This record gives sequence, structure tokens and C-alpha cells, in this order.
Amino acid sequence: MDIDTIAAIATAPGEAGIGIVRLSGKNAVDIADKIFKAKNDISLKLSESRKLHYGHIIDPNNDKIIDEVLVVYMKSPHTYTTEDVVEINCHGGIISVRRILEIVLENGARIADAGEFTKRAFMNGRIDLTQAEAVMDLISAKTDSSFDVSLNQLEGALSSEVRILSESVLKMLAQIEATIDFPDEDDVEEIAYEKMKNEGEFILEKINKLISTSYSGKILKEGLKTIILGKPNVGKSSLMNAILRENRAIVTEVPGTTRDIIEEYVNINGIPLIIVDTAGIRETEDIVEKIGVDRAKELIDKGDLAIVVFDASEKLTREDENIIELIKYKKSIILLNKTDLEVKTDIDTLRKYLPNKTILNTSILKGSGLSQIEETIKDMFFKGDIKINDSIIINNVRHKDLLLKSKKNIEEALESIKINMPIDCIEVDVKECYDNLGEINGDTVGEDIIDRIFSDFCIGK
Ligand code: GDP
Repeated sequence: MDIDTIAAIATAPGEAGIGIVRLSGKNAVDIADKIFKAKNDISLKLSESRKLHYGHIIDPNNDKIIDEVLVVYMKSPHTYTTEDVVEINCHGGIISVRRILEIVLENGARIADAGEFTKRAFMNGRIDLTQAEAVMDLISAKTDSSFDVSLNQLEGALSSEVRILSESVLKMLAQIEATIDFPDEDDVEEIAYEKMKNEGEFILEKINKLISTSYSGKILKEGLKTIILGKPNVGKSSLMNAILRENRAIVTEVPGTTRDIIEEYVNINGIPLIIVDTAGIRETEDIVEKIGVDRAKELIDKGDLAIVVFDASEKLTREDENIIELIKYKKSIILLNKTDLEVKTDIDTLRKYLPNKTILNTSILKGSGLSQIEETIKDMFFKGDIKINDSIIINNVRHKDLLLKSKKNIEEALESIKINMPIDCIEVDVKECYDNLGEINGDTVGEDIIDRIFSDFCIGK
């Protein structure tokens, strides 16, 4: 176990009200006492845990005041890392935190590695690996729903589910041991195989259920990339504006997109949507002509959903057909817009072209049909049901991969049981399943993987 005391700036760089320098380790409070002069002259070490003290950070070499601060000492073991922790609240901005960090390092701490505070919380057994990863996800969450999923994970929802699975796998292993220990008793083997089969099916069902949430998890985490398509003048910008107006929780305009394409974040009934608007294309020209078939295809391929708009007051044109060709195999919602006008589009032909797609009649001008669009999106991606707070949603690729591996192990074990394979064939798969599940919450994980996970963290966390 690490014994040295680590320190880092815990707040983001930049101008702000306060900044925090955090220390953790057995010398944290001694180091803090060397550089902190409390207004009431109290020693942190002798003071009550988790109490805020006012005073100054001074350079012990020359008694120079570095900053006016509030300091809290949190005594082991009830702390973030389970070690002694000191947090120095100083003025925000880049200078104060940097100076204080320097003084802290000069007085015996070493700079923390990325994620090292959380790594210590994990290594010291306060949280498991899924909870540590949840911390990282909380910090980097870009959508409300993604934050909620991670918070649920931090609270231990996924951990306990994985633990239940691991216990079931252990029961299977116990049955295997029993048959190995009493090889001559026929009925032992028979009963063991039956019990293992039941346990295996229980595990498989639970794993499948978890895996089935991973697509929603990805969408909630990254946003549902939605592209609005249609020839000029069908009502694409009106649709975009209507969606933005109705769902005011616009998070941010996503930078870094090309000039003629704008992405906007909106939150529709809890589903984060990144709407890719082909602005600049829509005013005058055909999308295919303007950006080329390949690029249009590429754009559509990258999206999770296409909303395709047709003008109901006109007959279908070649341009419409080009677009139909592009989205034929794509998850899409078809809008027959301007239904407040006389409908001239041959709807049967449209249905024939796009047999399995949802076609909605809308009049964006009059505000009708918008809620159906939202409902359809919910149905398509969440089967109409988004329960974040009370359910476990897999939103981490590492977890998903390990669940897929565990699933394969169990399926193979069940197959071996079914055809009465020798017990050691079954044992290999069951043991592997145990290891794969354990890797999710960190019970059976190797040091290299732990290092890789925490190296993705930010410094100071
Ligand atoms: P875009 O080129 O596809 O982005 O189309 P716009 O959103 O700019 O709309 C083109 C024109 O159609 C505008 O004058 C809109 O007011 C009008 N428009 C949009 N939706 C409807 C609708 O549902 N009914 C009618 N009658 N006009 C609409």
C-alpha cells in the first residue's frame, strides 16, 4: 500500500471564487500544520476532525504569507481515500493554488498521479472499481441522464448486482467441488448438474438483462445523434427551432463541427439528443448535391437516428427519392410535414418505399405532431420507458465487454451441462466467468488494468 502523502490541486484551473489543494496520507496533517497558521493558533492535528479553520498559509522558511485560507482536516478512516486528508480552500485563480501546492510539496508531500486519490479509495477498500469509474463519469458527464446513471453506480447499484451474480457463480463452483469430492456417488452428480443448470440460467438471464441496457446507456452518456434531413423548404429549420423552443434545456453548442453542419444538445423527456442540423445546406440546395453522396452517407452512418422531412403539399420528387435511398436502412422517423395544407404526396408510394418506418403527419407551423416525434423516439430507443434512478444501466464499454465474456462463459457451461460433459470442462468456463465478473468490480482485476483505468482520470481526483 502507498504510504507517502500525496497532494494536488483539486479544482479546475482558471478564475474562480475558490480553489482547493488536497492532501492525503499519513503525513498530511503534519505537513499542513507546518504551513498553516490558524487565526486562533490551533494545531490541526489536535483539532476536531472535519472542522473548518480560518487562517493563513505561510512559507515556513521566511514566514511570508502565501494566501488567506480555510483549512479542514479529515481524520482517517472516514475520508475520501480512508487516509488522513487535508483540504486547503484558498482563493481561486491559478496563482494561489499553484503556490500552495509548491509549499505543500516542499514540505514533504509528493504530487499525486492522475486519479490517485480515487485509486487509494479503491485500493483501501472503500469503493469498488465500478464506483471509482462512476466518479470519473460523474465529473465528465455531459448530460443530466448520464450524471444520474453514474450517481446510481456510485451508490453501488451495479456493484451489488455484480456481487449477486458472482455469488451465484460461486454456488455453481461449490456444486462442482461436491461432484469432484464424491465422484462415485451417482446421484450427487445428477443433483449437482441440475442445480448448476438452474443457477446458470439465473445468471444468464441477469447478465442478458444488464447487457440489454448498454445501448440505452451509450445513448444516455453520449447523446442520441440525430440528423434532420430533407430537401429545401420542407420545414427542417422550423422543426429544429420548434424542438429547441420546446426543450429549453439546451446544454451547449457542440464545437468542432464543420462549417455547414451545426450540432445542438437538447434534452427531450430525459433523452439527450445531439441534433445535427445540416444548416447552410437547407436553404438552397439539395443535400446530396451540396455535400456529395459519400459525405451525406457518412453523416447519416455516424448518426443514431435520422428524422426525414417531406413536404406533404407536394408530390415526391427525385430529390426526395435520393434521400429515401440514403436512409432506407437507417433508424429513422419520417415526417410528412405541412399537413395543414392540401396533401398532394402519394402516401402509399412513400409507404412502399419505406415499409418499416414510422411515418408521422405533422404541421410544424401549427405545432402539431411534435409530441408524437418525441414519443416515437422514446419508443424506438427506450421502448417508451426511461427509468434511470431506480435501474442499473450499463454505460461503460469495459463493463459491457466483461458482461459479454461472462455471458459466453455461462452459455458454454450450460451447453456442457446439457450434453453431460465431464465436470472439469464445465469448471473451466465457470471459473472464467467468475474472473470476468470479478474484473467488473475489481475483485479479480490485474494491476495493469487498474493503472490503465485510473490513468484516464484527471489530476486531483
Ligand atoms: P427548410 O428549408 O427545410 O429548413 O424549411 P423551413 O423550416 O425554412 O421552412 C420553409 C417554409 O415552410 C417556411 O416558410 C416555413 O414557415 C414553412 N413551413 C414549415 N413547416 C410548415 C408547416 O407545417 N405548414 C406550412 N404550411 N408551412 C410550413
